[in-house]
Amino acid sequence: MDVNKINGHSYYIKGGTNTGVYVFKDKSALVIDAGHTVGRGRRICSSLEENGMRARYVYTTHEHFDHYEAFQGIKQTAPHVEFIAHEMARPYIENLYIGKAYLVSSAPPKFQGKRADEATRYFSVDIPVNEKLTIKDRDFEIHHVPGHCMGQAVIITDDRVCYLGDSVFDRTIMAKYDMPFLYSIDYQRQSLEKIKNLDFDHGLIAHSKNVYSKSEIDKIIDENVEVLDRYEADIIEILKTPSSREEILQQLLVINEIECNFETYHYNYSTTGAFLASLAERNIIDYTYDQGKIYYYGI
Ligand SMILES: [Zn+2]
Ligand SMILES: [Zn+2]
Repeated sequence: MDVNKINGHSYYIKGGTNTGVYVFKDKSALVIDAGHTVGRGRRICSSLEENGMRARYVYTTHEHFDHYEAFQGIKQTAPHVEFIAHEMARPYIENLYIGKAYLVSSAPPKFQGKRADEATRYFSVDIPVNEKLTIKDRDFEIHHVPGHCMGQAVIITDDRVCYLGDSVFDRTIMAKYDMPFLYSIDYQRQSLEKIKNLDFDHGLIAHSKNVYSKSEIDKIIDENVEVLDRYEADIIEILKTPSSREEILQQLLVINEIECNFETYHYNYSTTGAFLASLAERNIIDYTYDQGKIYYYGI
């Protein structure tokens, strides 16, 4: 795997989840979003070694497993490596079952996820961060941007490179999944606005083929907002007829021709709930219980 330079000491390694690398003067490295699988962690260590670098810290932009499972592979190769995450992501990382369980509001059934052992694996966050991270006299800005999940926090290096994790969805992801996986629409809208106001030159989205300039990131953010607006308008239209959350989701999946498996259905179910919460907050919808069903409707 190539270690590609973005600017100054800031690099990235391509992957299903892109991995950021910041190299200090002594050639030790801060790895950002190590990615999925223990094997990838080992491969990251080999790639760094080929370039005279070595992993010393690993930061995850948020609590989703595909962003830090590889930490285990890095730890096997570099035992002194320390794991860094935002304080709001920490509870989910240290108790993986929380994220699994909130999707289905119970113990996860066997249909959920490829690997049943994920939920019982233990990770400990060595360095919880909030707004700033300083390592070897280098300052990194940390910005909490919840919405996709509660613990999302982007990191900006002194080379003006922002590692965005899943805070912004790339065009290819919006086309592939169409419905973005979101926990809170209101937080997501605030976070997208916040990212537009951050000061950086280069942005790396975790699931993307390209590094983007800040002005391109701003354009992609506008497209992310358009997707939110479109889904909200569709839900308001659907709720002219009182409908259950499952019925709303069914219509959205059919209208947008989205195919699901058990897990992706529940990501979309979560996003539907996030839209309902946002509409309720603004008194646009209300609900009624009738004959064993909760019906939502427009006011
Ligand atoms: Zn994610
Ligand atoms: Zn992701």
